[in-house]
Amino acid sequence: MTDNACGSCTACCRVYSISEIGKPAGQWCEHCAVGKGCKIYEKRPWKCVEFECLWLHSQHGGFGNPMPDEMRPDRCKVVFSPLDDTFIALCMPGSPDAWRKGAGRKVVDWLVGNGYRVLAGLPGAPTKTFIDRFCEREVHVGEPDETGKIRLTPTGGRYANAMTDDIVERVREMGLQQVWVDSRGCPHCGAKDGPAWIGDSVWHYCAKHRVKWLAGWDLTHVVDKVEQERRYKELGLGGFEHIRRDEVEALAVQVEKAAADNRLADLMRQLEMKDH
Ligand code: SF4
Ligand code: SF4
Ligand SMILES: [Zn+2]
Repeated sequence: MTDNACGSCTACCRVYSISEIGKPAGQWCEHCAVGKGCKIYEKRPWKCVEFECLWLHSQHGGFGNPMPDEMRPDRCKVVFSPLDDTFIALCMPGSPDAWRKGAGRKVVDWLVGNGYRVLAGLPGAPTKTFIDRFCEREVHVGEPDETGKIRLTPTGGRYANAMTDDIVERVREMGLQQVWVDSRGCPHCGAKDGPAWIGDSVWHYCAKHRVKWLAGWDLTHVVDKVEQERRYKELGLGGFEHIRRDEVEALAVQVEKAAADNRLADLMRQLEMKDH
């Protein structure tokens, strides 16, 4: 924190909780000269000494090239810090959506594109958003139980990745519980016709190259195969090649696995130390 390379950034002195000095998450530390640095630099808590956000890490040569100025936490309003293969993205209070747009979003997309997961939201907020290559879902962060474990519960509703706005709207209207969405275009030309809704699933297709792919579905409903075939024909998609089946099936397995294992709970237990 407030390393020379941080310049006038002091964002982490706001977002994190520091139990050693009774500093709550999301509030400026009483020792912080905002935009200047730490007033007790020589005696600052150990957590402050060892902390290095993603941006600072990049200035010190980590992660390839130094990240540009616009991505400095005080500018993009998000402090990214790593936890295994997940990055915690804490937004500055007053900018709860900073990770969704501008430089903050560029960082999220870059991380996700490189295989990391991101958990984003306001410091100490009970609801955060979990983002990986396949999905984006809101999760509720529970209180620790007697063993210190924190339960993460998907809060329902949005559960999709890189969806177009119209689909997001549609998903909301339909009140779907869990939807996986593949928003990529045709592998031949990049076009994306549709979406076509069939039962509880949504499809995109390329009329020119006669391919279709499952863009998303509601996991809480069983797909009616007969109805699906009937609708394909009705929509003229019957003879189209169904692509990306393998990926979708692998994804379904992963969804179930993610629900079953306690990875996120472990993550949140660690997060708790940093963020509450
Ligand atoms: S958020 Fe990063 S760049 Fe800003 S003061 Fe903290 S460590 Fe430095
Ligand atoms: S003690 Fe200093 S470095 Fe630590 S949060 Fe407070 S102002 Fe920042
Ligand atoms: Zn095409």
